[in-house]
Amino acid sequence: MIQSINPYNHEVVFETKEFTKKQTSDAIDAAHERFLSWRKTSFSERSKLMQAAADELKKNKQEYAETMTLEMGKPISQSIAEIEKCAWVCEYYAEHAESHLADKTIKTDASESYVSYAPIGVVLAVMPWNYPFWQVFRFAAPALMAGNIGVLKHASNVMRSADNIQKVFERAGFPKGCFTHMPLSSSKIEDVIKNPKIKAITLTGSKPAGSAVAATAGSEIKKSVLELGGSNALVVFEDCDLDETLKTTVQARFQNTGQSCIAGKRLIVHENIAEAFTEKYVKAVRELKSGDPMAEDTFIGVMARPDLAEELEEQLQASVKAGAKILIGGKRDKAYFEPTVVTDVTPEMSLFKEETFGPVIGITTFKTEEEAVDLVNQSAFGLGVSIFTEDKKRAKKLVPQFEDGAVFVNELVKSDPRLPFGGTKISGYGRELSADGIQEFVNKKTVYFK
Ligand code: NAP
Repeated sequence: MIQSINPYNHEVVFETKEFTKKQTSDAIDAAHERFLSWRKTSFSERSKLMQAAADELKKNKQEYAETMTLEMGKPISQSIAEIEKCAWVCEYYAEHAESHLADKTIKTDASESYVSYAPIGVVLAVMPWNYPFWQVFRFAAPALMAGNIGVLKHASNVMRSADNIQKVFERAGFPKGCFTHMPLSSSKIEDVIKNPKIKAITLTGSKPAGSAVAATAGSEIKKSVLELGGSNALVVFEDCDLDETLKTTVQARFQNTGQSCIAGKRLIVHENIAEAFTEKYVKAVRELKSGDPMAEDTFIGVMARPDLAEELEEQLQASVKAGAKILIGGKRDKAYFEPTVVTDVTPEMSLFKEETFGPVIGITTFKTEEEAVDLVNQSAFGLGVSIFTEDKKRAKKLVPQFEDGAVFVNELVKSDPRLPFGGTKISGYGRELSADGIQEFVNKKTVYFK
């Protein structure tokens, strides 16, 4: 039995039986069968259905949002915003998939030569619990619009949301088998990847999960896209707009109760403003409202599972032992973790070199631009970095020096259907969203007429 347990009141929200071997292979057979007809549908047919999925999300956003909140403790207002964002990505690809995948003419010595973008078949998505809908939709919308089929292995603690995602596509009128959720534990995934009807894999999650899945995919010569962890830096220069920077950097760390891959986890502040900035930062964090995730005005809910909060506590304690100082917060009660600000963090501490997946931020100071860039790039992760400065020339000069997959200036790193999203180093490879995302799982077919 796979269970979802509400991390706020510890009640069982949902239980589901794991698929048997036969149910799994039947589901993949049905998905493949569906692919044979789905790939022949026109963009306009697919667009109508994808627009209907967007409408369905908007119509029943409360229902879908409540289940996410019950399963993983996300504050309800943030759950609703997540469903709305899923509607946006469906609308985006309903409108743009055709142009993103239009034949690309290339002049050669042929009478005609071009690249066409053909669907490849059934793609397996292995997904995490932190944005139970968004992570799946940012894969599913482009995959289905490209003519592919999606099968989902969702995180074990959000299986009812997984059911709901399948329901969205069914309610929108997609033919059966276009998108199937398979309740499976992670130990069954190796066999799924080896099934010849699975053509590619996308995984969003941790490094251990990514490397296990990519190793199997590699041994089968199947393409994978990996969206893994991050430890984004927020670099605050002396000349930033202090109030705006404060608002943005608090949001960057504490939204989704700190459980976001692209959260700003390392606050790197110029030493001349460090004291004043830290004081204001602590004050702003003190004002964040913790509470029942179902309450409209809650900003900090509970973490998704008590064991994840325990892990964060260990990282915090190890850093404190190594000399870091807690300025606010630091206490845990089961899955609830107080919003925490820590100063005197150095690069050898857990809070700096590991990913911290909860409401804790560590502050490190710098003197020069070079030192700031070096601190950012010292991380083994490479998802994104935010820099805060009013000097656009300086920002432009610094952009090429960062090793991350994204640089945001005076803004938190965020995903947007129109922009490619993905990391470098142990944050993974491949891109999601935009034209780059929809082109990951297609056969880029070279066509040549003499
Ligand atoms: P996780 O433990 O890696 O789980 C992610 C998914 O992988 C789950 O469905 C999980 O299933 C499955 N899984 C775990 N080990 C596996 C294995 N050996 N083989 C096959 N599947 C396996 O990650 P999480 O705790 O759910 O999510 C947090 C992590 O995801 C963080 O590191 C975060 O930064 C990262 N993340 C990255 C992005 C991005 O876009 N780059 C976005 C969101 C989250 P079970 O639940 O059944 O174990």
